[in-house]
Amino acid sequence: MTSPLPHLLDLSLDQIEAQLAEWGEPRFHAKQIARWVLRQHVTNFEGMTNLSARLRARLAESFTLDPLPVITERGADDGSTTKVLLDLANGDAVEAVRMDYASDGRDAAMEDGDDDEHVPERTTVCVSTQVGCAMGCTFCATGQQGFTRNLRPSEILAQVLHFARRRRVTNVVFMGMGEPLANYAATVQAIRWMVSADGMNMRQRGVTVSTVGLVRAIDRLGDEGFQIGLTVSLHAPDDDLRRRLIPTAGGITIDELVEASRGYIAKRGRRVTFAYALLDRVNDEPEQARRLAERIRGVQAHVNLIPYNPTAGAGLRRPSRERVRAFQRELQAQGVNATVRVERGQEIAAACGQLRTDVMLASGERSAQEDAAPGGAAFTVLS
Ligand code: SAH
Ligand code: SF4
Repeated sequence: MTSPLPHLLDLSLDQIEAQLAEWGEPRFHAKQIARWVLRQHVTNFEGMTNLSARLRARLAESFTLDPLPVITERGADDGSTTKVLLDLANGDAVEAVRMDYASDGRDAAMEDGDDDEHVPERTTVCVSTQVGCAMGCTFCATGQQGFTRNLRPSEILAQVLHFARRRRVTNVVFMGMGEPLANYAATVQAIRWMVSADGMNMRQRGVTVSTVGLVRAIDRLGDEGFQIGLTVSLHAPDDDLRRRLIPTAGGITIDELVEASRGYIAKRGRRVTFAYALLDRVNDEPEQARRLAERIRGVQAHVNLIPYNPTAGAGLRRPSRERVRAFQRELQAQGVNATVRVERGQEIAAACGQLRTDVMLASGERSAQEDAAPGGAAFTVLS
């Protein structure tokens, strides 16, 4: 049963303060409340022992803190990867993935857009921002489902909190279902709660937003004052091909995307990552790597190659290892820093956005049982 009350985490800190003021309560309680929820992970107001009984009762009458119920959860890679499908009611569901990495070097850090020299052990949660996606990318399981609705900030945060209750989450990547910058306000509010000292207090550099490339929203994000990472999904060296892969890319050109990326780098002083999903004989020719290098020359960026993860019905193929390598080598020969992302153990549907499809296809089974599958799905960087 989902509570009919609004979720407290759909409010910003300012809004919680305003609500307290309206009730004649001191504003400073807002930060205490936020810490209870985002740091102590309480799921009811009862446990907030530094608040008066009256205030706790008032909060409980007005807001909910309920977590999203689990539909199914699958572990893989000896528990180092976990995918969860959370229930949004009305038949909708949202997917999140947790990936644990051992203490690692620079390359693995780049996977998250985190460009520190050395990164200690970390736990990354891949979050969704929409149910479905309106962008319709031909190679993406989510894009093929169409768009259902935007997630609220509380629903984005619920995905992180689900995992944070059991293990400290150090990184969040917005690479699950949906286009985060098409749900701008909720995405930014969720990020604010993640990085705020009164919220989850995560390192800003541990948070990465991946976008299909909404240029105005990239500009806006650059002005928010965050130090978070940005990944721009390019997928093609020329606009014609890009429009075929991303039918809704419309009038946005690669030049405009590169320009917006430069702007972000200038404002934030951070590199960006260009994501490039490699599709066999579609966008993986060495000649295309040369043209890609040409387009992004001089930008403080690196390219993350993602060999296509076959999704039902798309009619596209994953390139061979050799072709992936050849594409990477060509980029490197042109002076572009390029890494390859490989999903291990595709048997449990590795790509973000695929778990929901699987479960929906499997006759809509909606059991909350642990469904541990062999093999696994974790992202690693080859070189
Ligand atoms: N909407 C955003 C973030 C979610 S998708 C975006 O498009 O950037 C996260 C990444 O996964 C994107 O780079 C996307 O291109 C990639 N992706 C989606 N489906 C894929 C698939 N089947 N194989 C490989 N990469 C895929
Ligand atoms: Fe949406 Fe990203 Fe999938 Fe494209 S790749 S359909 S933008 S989620």
